[in-house]
Amino acid sequence: MQDNCITIELRLPGLLVLETKEEERWIEAAVRYEQEEADCPRCGHSTWQVHQWHLQHKRDAKLWGKEVWLALFKRRFRCRVCGEVFTEPDPHCGRGRRTTRRLRKTVARRAEEATVRAVAREEGVSEGLVERSWVEEHAVVSAPTRPHALLGLDGFCVRRPGRMWTGMWDLETANPVAVVPGERQVDVQRMLERHACRDTVRAVAIDLSEPYRQAVELVLPGALIVADKFHVLALAGRALHEVHGETRRPGNLAWLLQRGAEKLSLEQRRRLLDALQADPSLARSWGLKEALREVYRKRSQKEAAAALERWIKEAGGSGLRPFERTAATLRKWHREVLNYWHYPITNALVEGKHNRVKVLKRRAYGYRNDRSFLLRILNLIHTD
Ligand SMILES: [Zn+2]
Repeated sequence: MQDNCITIELRLPGLLVLETKEEERWIEAAVRYEQEEADCPRCGHSTWQVHQWHLQHKRDAKLWGKEVWLALFKRRFRCRVCGEVFTEPDPHCGRGRRTTRRLRKTVARRAEEATVRAVAREEGVSEGLVERSWVEEHAVVSAPTRPHALLGLDGFCVRRPGRMWTGMWDLETANPVAVVPGERQVDVQRMLERHACRDTVRAVAIDLSEPYRQAVELVLPGALIVADKFHVLALAGRALHEVHGETRRPGNLAWLLQRGAEKLSLEQRRRLLDALQADPSLARSWGLKEALREVYRKRSQKEAAAALERWIKEAGGSGLRPFERTAATLRKWHREVLNYWHYPITNALVEGKHNRVKVLKRRAYGYRNDRSFLLRILNLIHTD
């Protein structure tokens, strides 16, 4: 350590300050972990042999009103027993993180009293970081009492301009596991890495979302992916709506078309039949919608596979653009649709919660920001 450097007390135990530099608006501290040895993650033996050093820059909480940056000299060790090369642990930041836990805790706590935007400006970090930190602090609703085996992933809209979040649910207990802002592969991947165990998860029900599928395949290669039944059926419902064009209102034709045929009264069925007879392409669309529901009534996967194949061919050659598109989608998700016969799981049991979230969302217009709204959502989920 140099004599002429300003001494700052970082209060990050285990980190050795090698040098500090102070400027008008920021402080940089060159640091490394004190510990001379690390345990090999493969065989467990302790090793001191450094294979490589590299430098990482991490943001820490402000000090004296100045931004603090850590220049962290990190080691890669080589295990002297099994030869494994591994990076030393970084408990103050966490694996792959570019900020210290302390900074994330600080901004999360600030966000209890101020808006996300104000906190971001004050700390000189992005709004995304404040939001993620806040979620990190609050969103893990409960530690699992037993390991998750069946999970559900689905997107829901939180912010007023239509920002999507992703929720993860334990489908056996119907308890939420975590929520995360965003619905990109990287968002979902990180959530799965933190909360889903590769050894215990057997199946995951998901929306028909390519990023979700890729995230699950990467993090949980042994889990079966099940295309959520209600999202699959909704595709046909949407296609039918596109063909017909009318907005659904209780009792009108659009409503009759969408409703399951078995739930209609005699009088309603007569009205529906009259409309279908008058319009052949509407009749065709309605038939396709009902036929897809029929696929899900098959007892065995083999029967379902045959029925689905027939449906895709028929819809694909129907000359009805919305159904042709649906056929193409289902061809891509063919395997995941049929996995339902291995694990008949759906996110339907969390849909009820989403409806309550929607009601809350409507009320949320009066709120100062999304954070207080989110708190209410999380409370709601928590007490369910
Ligand atoms: Zn080893």
